[in-house]
Amino acid sequence: MRWSDYYLPTLKENPREAEAQSHKLMIRAGLIRKLAAGTYSYLPFGLKALNNVESIIRQAMSEKGALEVFLPALHPLEIWQKTGRDVTLIDDVGYSFIDRHGNKMVLGPTHEEIITALIQGEVKSYKQMPLILYQIQSKFRDEPRPRFGVIRSKEFIMKDAYSFDVDEKSLNESYKKMQEAYCQIMDKCGLDYIMVEADPGMMGGKESAEFMVISDSGEDMIVHCFGCGYAASLEAAPCVGGELKKKDKVLKIEVIDTPGKSTVEDVARALKIPEANLIKTLIYKADDSFVAVLMRGDKRINETKLSRVLNAQHLKLANDSEIEDVTGGPVGFSGPVKLKGVKIIADFLVEHMSNAVTGANKADKHFTNVNINKDFKVNLFCDLRYIDVDDVCPKCHKKIEIKRTMEVGHIFKLGTKYTDSLNAKFLDENGKEHLIIMGCYGIGVNRVLAAIIELNHDDRGIVWPQEIAPFKAQILLLDESKEAVSIADDLYGELSFEGFDVLYDDRNAQAGVKFKDADLIGIPLQIIIGSRGLKKGNIEIKYRGSNKKDEIAIKNAASKLKKILTM
Ligand code: ATP
Ligand code: MG
Repeated sequence: MRWSDYYLPTLKENPREAEAQSHKLMIRAGLIRKLAAGTYSYLPFGLKALNNVESIIRQAMSEKGALEVFLPALHPLEIWQKTGRDVTLIDDVGYSFIDRHGNKMVLGPTHEEIITALIQGEVKSYKQMPLILYQIQSKFRDEPRPRFGVIRSKEFIMKDAYSFDVDEKSLNESYKKMQEAYCQIMDKCGLDYIMVEADPGMMGGKESAEFMVISDSGEDMIVHCFGCGYAASLEAAPCVGGELKKKDKVLKIEVIDTPGKSTVEDVARALKIPEANLIKTLIYKADDSFVAVLMRGDKRINETKLSRVLNAQHLKLANDSEIEDVTGGPVGFSGPVKLKGVKIIADFLVEHMSNAVTGANKADKHFTNVNINKDFKVNLFCDLRYIDVDDVCPKCHKKIEIKRTMEVGHIFKLGTKYTDSLNAKFLDENGKEHLIIMGCYGIGVNRVLAAIIELNHDDRGIVWPQEIAPFKAQILLLDESKEAVSIADDLYGELSFEGFDVLYDDRNAQAGVKFKDADLIGIPLQIIIGSRGLKKGNIEIKYRGSNKKDEIAIKNAASKLKKILTM
């Protein structure tokens, strides 16, 4: 492709609204343009890269026997009502509207319902399974905070696969196949990833794993152990032990004045004690009942763990008036002493505290020297906090790290949730009817592309991994002489004729501009035709990744380059 015939607008300056490196570079290197918050157009150069990601995905899927389909993005709301996700998902992030005929419609945020409806009544014998179907399709989600360009957008492309199996054993095999395919996709895309067990056996039953790329532009935190390789989302990671204080001699409880001091930080500062000496008391509403949750002052409550312990469908913090009703005091002064009518549950760490400070359930008052069993009782001690760097690995008890990561893929054993709601059943060898067992497997295609750029760039621009690079080589013509032009034209013609996808910067622009643009757009091999080399009968080559330079003789340049490009 001759640049002069191409549409590749590059920008010198970073766009002001872009925070993530990938976002800045995707705009500057002419991959994407923004239409509105969370919606982007792909330009030819960006689309080529995106197509390369898709090819890698298609190949990996097909090697595992998955078959490509294409489902509609426009759905009747009715199908979502069958699984109740009209409320739990569409109301939350869905785009729904009424069409001219009065039909309630949805722009699909995902496709479990649609694929299940597709196979329902048609996949009805055990002989038709295992079956894995996948598509590459646009999804629509009204994300509360679209950001980082295509990393979190409102319209994005996902590869979503769905497996259909007759029993758990067969589901496990399909799941394993998809897991292997995902590892292969990540490797081919040049992504250094961590597979995070999103459920390390605590969530009960259904297994799922997330494919995470370590990146500052990610929005998820994970815990990772270099010792044994354990990785889990912060939500799921259990806390074992942690640093425990030795119990001090029990002192007598006292009331103290703490005017206006309603946060752990304020109270600790006013009393000149560490936050770890406070027990914070939070009142939650779990479904229809209230519960008091006690946590050491310096630790955070993990609401996912709390919901699980309480077996609650809906969990939220009580509002100010509910707190007054439950505790008799205002928000910020709650405590477990003399608290009646609610269950008190506490994090394991609280069990080891002595002579602690708590709220006194009265405005501007706290208790000091509060002790469990003497001053109050706890109904249940359990693991309720977020793991942090003071904790040890739940598996090997060595030191852990907390990392910011970006989720690029997610694989999930679904079970029969959708086949049950949509009545998708099959007959086994004995003619007995069962629900089909499903798994689902998603990869964010544009997010993968952005992640590749996050991990493969320097301060000059993108450094494409070979498999993703929109062109494999770029010719830079730096000299206007007839000789130079004819060498460049010939080389371009010959490489193109042989099927090599080459970008030829034949623009009427200064060498400096061409060099800068070449580094910005990041094609792996730069073939430089300029007077400096020509004087010696040579052309120069530069590898974008290593910055390594070399010279090759003009007369056998074409064959040498072909060799380099097929390596
Ligand atoms: P997140 O927690 O980031 O919102 P999710 O759990 O909602 O992701 P899934 O529904 O599992 O995501 O979708 C599968 C994949 O689709 C994700 O792993 C991610 O790569 C991609 N994805 C999800 N939401 C977006 C979005 N708003 N923009 C771009 N890609 C997305
Ligand atoms: Mg989401």
